[in-house]
Amino acid sequence: MEIKKKDIRALTKEQLRNFFVEQGDKAFRGNQVYEWLWQKSAHDFDAMTNISKETRKMLEDNFVINHIRVDQMQRSSDGTIKNAVRLHDGLVVESVLIPTETRTTACVSSQVGCSLDCRFCATARLKRMRNLNPDEIYDQVVAIDNESRLYFDRPLSNIVFMGMGEPLMNYNNVLKAIDKITSPEGLGMSPKRIVVSTSGVPKIIKKMADEEVKFGLAVSLHSAIDEVRTSIMPFNATFPLKDLREALEYWYSKTKNRITYEYVVWKGINDTQEAADALVKFCKFAPSKVNIIEYNPIDNGEFQQAPNSAIEMYQNTLERNGITVTIRRSRGKDIDAACGQLANKS
Ligand code: SAH
Repeated sequence: MEIKKKDIRALTKEQLRNFFVEQGDKAFRGNQVYEWLWQKSAHDFDAMTNISKETRKMLEDNFVINHIRVDQMQRSSDGTIKNAVRLHDGLVVESVLIPTETRTTACVSSQVGCSLDCRFCATARLKRMRNLNPDEIYDQVVAIDNESRLYFDRPLSNIVFMGMGEPLMNYNNVLKAIDKITSPEGLGMSPKRIVVSTSGVPKIIKKMADEEVKFGLAVSLHSAIDEVRTSIMPFNATFPLKDLREALEYWYSKTKNRITYEYVVWKGINDTQEAADALVKFCKFAPSKVNIIEYNPIDNGEFQQAPNSAIEMYQNTLERNGITVTIRRSRGKDIDAACGQLANKS
């Protein structure tokens, strides 16, 4: 009978060290293999050149390395790159590299499909198939770091969890991936360059505050009026604004970090002065920044980007109340790589 081999990257460093001791080898061998697996992103045991042939064979007999594979890479006319990433079980997620003059940002996925049901988002139509493992999240970042070095001659500078999925519905694995990304044994990136974007899961926001995480938080708000928000983001009925606001107050009291909100202004949905006033009222309790993002159409016109006059109204209202505003133009639209467009179309 064939023994089912274990995924070696599911082991912690300590477990790997113990494994070697149990095999009658030195614990230090575990460190060497761990370095190959994470820092050097080895795809197979034969790449581990400072490990003896016999040991490599023994590892091969016991374990697999479930590495992702970039199946397809598309480049947009604006330089944005989208990767279709195949996982070991054949499922596919997407990740995006967004270059600007000064930064290269990786936009990574945390779930196959999504747990949530935002009506304006293409990923929501895929439903949630499964959570990504920490190594599958980490590998997306490594793939984009390599592409950044290759095509832009510089390492990756920032990471946003704004790809497919709701990161706070896969919090433990996202946290483990961030630990690897920020650890000197992984990529050694600063957590200050990482932003986790959420539609708002109050319980987990509080947990993050308690754990004093060092990465940034962005909240996809889109409306500060319960009735409106529930109509476009139905899960808001389960996690109403009152609970979200309370969790954010807790987050701010613990971290003293500015809160970023993402916000799309749609015609006939949230383009009124009343909606802008509600947004000010919602976020005034702490230093805040609102990113107004362009709508990327995904359907036959149910949602439409509001005219510039409505965006200006928001901008004026927010600035008058001391809230920082940025207006974000979409990137990579021609290859369906922009916010909310990731749906494994190609
Ligand atoms: N689930 C997380 C991260 C993924 S979505 C979250 O909700 O934050 C990343 C961002 O894209 C969110 O702000 C989301 O609301 C926004 N978005 C989704 N669909 C969009 C679309 N069609 N056009 C513009 N932004 C969209």
